[in-house]
Amino acid sequence: MNLRMVHILEEQKTKWSFKMKINQFSPYLGDEEYKKIKECFDSNWITEGPLCAEFSDKLLKLTGAKYGVFAPNGTLALYLALKAAGIKPGDEVLVSNFTFIASANAIEMIGATPVFVDINMDLHINIEHAEELITEKTTGIMPIHIYGTACDMDSIMSFAKKHNLKVIEDAAQAIGVHWNGKHCGTFGDIGTFSFFADKTITTGEGGFVVTNNEEIYENLLYIRNQGRINRGSFLHPQIGYNFRITDLQAAVGLAQISKLPEIIEKKMNIFNSYMKKIKNKDFCILEPHEKSGFVPFRVALFYKHNVNDLMKYLSDNGIETRTFFYPLHNQPCFVSKNWIRSEYKNSIYAYDHGLCMPSYVSLSEEEIEYVCDRLNNYVV
Ligand SMILES: *Cc1c(COP(=O)(O)O)cnc(C)c1O
Repeated sequence: MNLRMVHILEEQKTKWSFKMKINQFSPYLGDEEYKKIKECFDSNWITEGPLCAEFSDKLLKLTGAKYGVFAPNGTLALYLALKAAGIKPGDEVLVSNFTFIASANAIEMIGATPVFVDINMDLHINIEHAEELITEKTTGIMPIHIYGTACDMDSIMSFAKKHNLKVIEDAAQAIGVHWNGKHCGTFGDIGTFSFFADKTITTGEGGFVVTNNEEIYENLLYIRNQGRINRGSFLHPQIGYNFRITDLQAAVGLAQISKLPEIIEKKMNIFNSYMKKIKNKDFCILEPHEKSGFVPFRVALFYKHNVNDLMKYLSDNGIETRTFFYPLHNQPCFVSKNWIRSEYKNSIYAYDHGLCMPSYVSLSEEEIEYVCDRLNNYVV
């Protein structure tokens, strides 16, 4: 070891002689949101009203979808979408085995059966596997755009066309994400977004459903508003429910969507920093398909070995990570169901080898450096 090496090592030691505390996530809220909420109080309008209309217009402009309605959250947005698209009790809906459990639960809530489909190593639904799982009861497919990257919508749409399936896109993690220049959620019959606190833009809780189909749009309006189109009438031509949100949430959403370009830029910088700073060859980071846009919803890290010990090591170093999604077919609440018809090698591999690194907007360069330093110095 020469003198210079000693010097660098000592410098490093002093630099990180303290332990940082880095959370997995922190919402990006500020004065803009606070000011916008005040408008609700000033106008004395807090239920679904003018600010929801304004937020909806902005979301339609962003996504390029023709029609859109709000839902109380991403889970109920999926339920609303499935119902409006005509998925019925007893139907089977193909769904990626690698997703947040809400995707499958929304199908169960309809009374239909979620049929789990394994993924490719890009974490998106594997169409060859979906082909094997088709039965005469299959009426729909739900692809999930995962971690801010888009599914291969070309193959999914041609598969759906071939089998006459409804396509319900779960774009909860894909606001601002495109496939081949077209916004996620707008390829299929219907698509949904979530504005939960950890999503790219948030309203605390909230969801949005988009479609280009006028008939589906009309169904959405009836189902979400007590079976009538307009409020203020007590005549209900259909059976419907209450899926409305409030202008308080839309106020936060409007402030958030105006910051979206900044959020995307900052998240891209965070992603690029991780790419540049991780030198340990045992790790690699998920990158989008060449036709996919990218808003790094998560920095998704693959590790050569099992992530259990790594996760504990990072936690001991003050860094909070999250595992990848636990494969749906192994979920305790699903194992007793008669739904599991196959093996799921890739989703199991992903769970065993994947970790989501902190990547929230206000994460500093120094914090990323600390995390990468810990990763680079990790020895099994
Ligand atoms: C967050 C999320 C949901 C559910 O949205 P909520 O607003 O939390 O109900 C559904 N699917 C995916 C892929 C998600 O990430």
